[in-house]
Amino acid sequence: MQKQLPISTLLCGLSLFSQAQAHVHGVGKMLVVQQQHQWQIQFELPASDALGFERADNSPEQAQAIAKLIERMQHSEQLVTLGPECGLIQSDYHLPALNEASEEEEEEESSHEDHEDIDVQYLFSCEQPNIQLHVTLFDWMPSLQRIDLQWANTQGQGQANLTPANPAFIW
Ligand SMILES: [Zn+2]
Repeated sequence: MQKQLPISTLLCGLSLFSQAQAHVHGVGKMLVVQQQHQWQIQFELPASDALGFERADNSPEQAQAIAKLIERMQHSEQLVTLGPECGLIQSDYHLPALNEASEEEEEEESSHEDHEDIDVQYLFSCEQPNIQLHVTLFDWMPSLQRIDLQWANTQGQGQANLTPANPAFIW
């Protein structure tokens, strides 16, 4: 994704990441955009890693996994920490419907692989311009091996790979 998105676009919705590409299991995406003292952080995580499944079977085990994930997403420190100079001012998340495949879907897209993503968005306000970001979700998402980070701030933009062994990034 080479195209630079204007910040106004970044702030208005969750569907920032290309939906055309199927995700890779074990690899999440993260977008960090600074606008003055506000830092917007978005995750796009494969449901297979965040929940352990991508198709619903309506089992109690799945309902429990979904409830647990929602609880975690409501606590931003379960996914990411930014340091004491930053405070969370807004959060949002989107869970896919995780429906069972209908016959219609299967006829339309016989080659479609049933990938689903979990979208999470946080908005932080930070008193200092330099922050250290630490991704904490590796601790409870053991199948996640990497997060592809894209960032844009007042100094420019860049990319980085975050891993369980190297989960932090400093601006
Ligand atoms: Zn998938």
